[in-house]
Amino acid sequence: MNILVTGGAGFIGKYLVKSLLEKGNSVTIFDDFSNSTKESISSLIEMGVKIIEGDITKPLEIINAVKDQDIVIHLAAKISVSESISNPLQTYRVNVEGTKNILTACEKNNVKKLIAASSAAVYGEGDPNVKLTEEAELNPISPYGQTKVKMESVIKQFESEHLINCIMLRFFNIYGVGQTSEYAGVITKFLERIEQGKSLEIFGDGLQTRDFVAIDDIISSINDGILNGKSGTYNIGNGKSSTIKDLAELMISISGKRLEITYTDSLKGDIRNSQADISLAKKEIKYSPKFDLDKIKELLE
Ligand code: NAD
Repeated sequence: MNILVTGGAGFIGKYLVKSLLEKGNSVTIFDDFSNSTKESISSLIEMGVKIIEGDITKPLEIINAVKDQDIVIHLAAKISVSESISNPLQTYRVNVEGTKNILTACEKNNVKKLIAASSAAVYGEGDPNVKLTEEAELNPISPYGQTKVKMESVIKQFESEHLINCIMLRFFNIYGVGQTSEYAGVITKFLERIEQGKSLEIFGDGLQTRDFVAIDDIISSINDGILNGKSGTYNIGNGKSSTIKDLAELMISISGKRLEITYTDSLKGDIRNSQADISLAKKEIKYSPKFDLDKIKELLE
């Protein structure tokens, strides 16, 4: 199959493109390299990936890139929450207007399938006692999360009017080697402290939970979407949550260092609990996460 991956040079994109090439697909990366480099994809170039340097906010560039593609996988986005607060318009332009351009390009080129990366940021603070299903209220607390809500509704609207199959995957807290600091949050911070031999600092009591999902499972979910895809919006997490305290203890124990955990005041606006209900993705696209949090040891090697 001919597959175009927008944002294919980014953190998720690199893993995805490698997996798609290994499966024998003809893959093209469309990326403006605003949050990635060409050097970082040299091994993919050796494997035969095609590269188009372009910007999804420029309609003509994306229309030309989508020609002759069977599937578009849309990962390109402004992903920094803090940038989305300081420059909400720019995040909106890329995440919403850019997505509209991709949809138009799919229509003009008769592409029948789109898989787009959404985020757990669409939920904001949910009910702390229940797993988040896709039906949960969308209440994003950042402009970044708001653009993902808008992106989803733009895609849904477009799908209702055109003959295209769209799958939106709401990724939870991804971890993996090579992750950019914008997203990695607590895991990156703990790693830095461990490397420096310093104590790990936890905001609040450490009992707040997150659904940490290995990058390998994220890539499987996209491949599942390609193979089994019914249109729809799906939570992609691990389905189990871990407390930040458990995460800190696990990372210290894997590191083999004798480090302490310290507790300070909780962060204002910090989400208390976040856990994905992944039953819909299991049922509809046959998503089945394989890795538990132990896989984090790869980051400490
Ligand atoms: P990333 O920043 O590493 O990759 C995004 C890529 O898009 C980069 O290579 C960047 O250069 C490119 N890009 C940005 N603006 C562009 C534009 N205007 N035109 C063309 N290319 C552009 O981010 P990532 O972590 O790989 O995330 C990929 C997708 O997954 C994003 O849509 C993100 O919102 C979503 N997501 C990621 C996570 C996570 O934990 N990494 C969690 C939830 C959702």
